[in-house]
Amino acid sequence: MHHVPSIIDGKEIDGQHGALEVLDPGNGEQWAQVGQCGEAEVDLAVKAARAAYDNGWSDTPAVERGRLMRKLADLIIRDGARIAEFETRDVGKPISQAKKDVIAVARYFEYYGSIVECLDGDTLQTSPAVFAMTIREPFGVTGHITPWNYPLQMVARTLAPSLAAGNCCVLKPAELTPVNASVIAQLALEAGVPPGVWNVVQGPGSTVGNAITAHDGIDHVSFTGSRPVGEMVAINAAKHVIPVVLELGGKSPNIIFPDADMAEAIPQVVNAIIQNAGQTCSAGSRVLIHEDCYDEVNELIAAEFRKIVLGHGMTDPGMGPVVSAKQLDTVSGMVTEGIKLAEGDLVVGGKRAEGHGGGFFMEPTFFTNVPESGYLFKEEIFGPVLVGTKFTDEADAIRLANATEFGLVAGIWTRDAGRALRMAKKIKTGQVFINTYGAAGGVELPFGGWKKSGYGREKGFEGMLGYTQTKTIAIGL
Ligand code: NAP
Ligand code: MG
Repeated sequence: MHHVPSIIDGKEIDGQHGALEVLDPGNGEQWAQVGQCGEAEVDLAVKAARAAYDNGWSDTPAVERGRLMRKLADLIIRDGARIAEFETRDVGKPISQAKKDVIAVARYFEYYGSIVECLDGDTLQTSPAVFAMTIREPFGVTGHITPWNYPLQMVARTLAPSLAAGNCCVLKPAELTPVNASVIAQLALEAGVPPGVWNVVQGPGSTVGNAITAHDGIDHVSFTGSRPVGEMVAINAAKHVIPVVLELGGKSPNIIFPDADMAEAIPQVVNAIIQNAGQTCSAGSRVLIHEDCYDEVNELIAAEFRKIVLGHGMTDPGMGPVVSAKQLDTVSGMVTEGIKLAEGDLVVGGKRAEGHGGGFFMEPTFFTNVPESGYLFKEEIFGPVLVGTKFTDEADAIRLANATEFGLVAGIWTRDAGRALRMAKKIKTGQVFINTYGAAGGVELPFGGWKKSGYGREKGFEGMLGYTQTKTIAIGL
């Protein structure tokens, strides 16, 4: 049985608020155990982070912080096989996807460990009697609450820029997938990151998560998860006037024109919803298809869906389980509701997959002719469910792309560069991909929501700027 500690001030501790069983979604069996923490441990972690900040982390030269981040990246690669297996057992994803996650995680620390050396301010023109400049300073202690779908990547995406910029962190990973947050915090200590700089407090959102967002000693909060919890986090933060980054949900469209390179488009459109069993905030969960290629594209997608083999993540199947029995209930329940409402035609899948023992498996599911007024068109399902809708022209495609409350990502598939760029400007999402989707993770590319997908940006240089505040200094000459 794998044992998962919390890590506070560089020490492994076990929370005393009950033991939490961590299940392997591929077979439903317990494989790890965590001692849950409570508010007292959050308080200890915040104090440890403050002490580490005041006692040197913020004054450590950027080049030194960067070296430690890059050393951590090397240790993550060194232990990559073990970390990838933990990720597969925690989330259920195919091991080849978990290995890619490990590479992306190392890349976050390498990237932010490098660009932090360019975290410079400006000199500003004002009157001849004044010399003015800006400097970029860390906030102090940042709180981080991460979801279960990409436990490794979400931790790295939010902690790497914050730590590199000179903040100290208190992290609460999702209780469904707690393992690797503690594993990489231990590697950070091995790399030489001082105790207290990176604290992990294990436990439920309602207590530990809430305590982080309500704590007076937290100077900034980054939250990745669902909209209802995001609203609560923002309200707590508003009460003590601290900034929040909210990375919430999506219902992202892939838009296919008849002149698209179908051999490129179809596998990527399918992967955009099948990867991680559709449990990806930026999943391509809608496909908008031009009327002139509608039947052809529907058939191509359906054929790919029918080929997908399900299995335990360690066998590296085409698709693994969803994360939990509860998530399987949610996804299959939403699909059943869509079928009941007769919104569109079910082409492939539509129910729980049988014959996988105690694992939590959903059939890859594809609906066509889904109307834009419909539940299936608008709601984030967060499972392997793709809905297809026909469009007539460019303007119609833009209208449909924007017809949900979300605005995270969109994909456009066409050989007409002018059309692609016209559309990219009109689509209300934080990222637009043309003839690709996701750009292989794109650590360097700013990412975040428009509309109800959230606010603030992570990834890229902008992601690190978000963990700093500007100070203007002016000198009378
Ligand atoms: P969730 O229920 O909102 O949970 C996210 C995190 O918040 C978990 O760590 C959870 O802890 C914690 N939490 C729960 N209640 C809390 C509270 N009262 N105060 C503070 N923290 C609390 O979301 P989820 O179901 O895990 O994740 C799925 C959602 O996340 C989807 O909507 C998805 O689109 C979105 N997501 C967005 C992105 C993005 O980058 N935009 C990335 C991944 C996921 P416990 O679970 O341990 O209780
Ligand atoms: Mg689990």
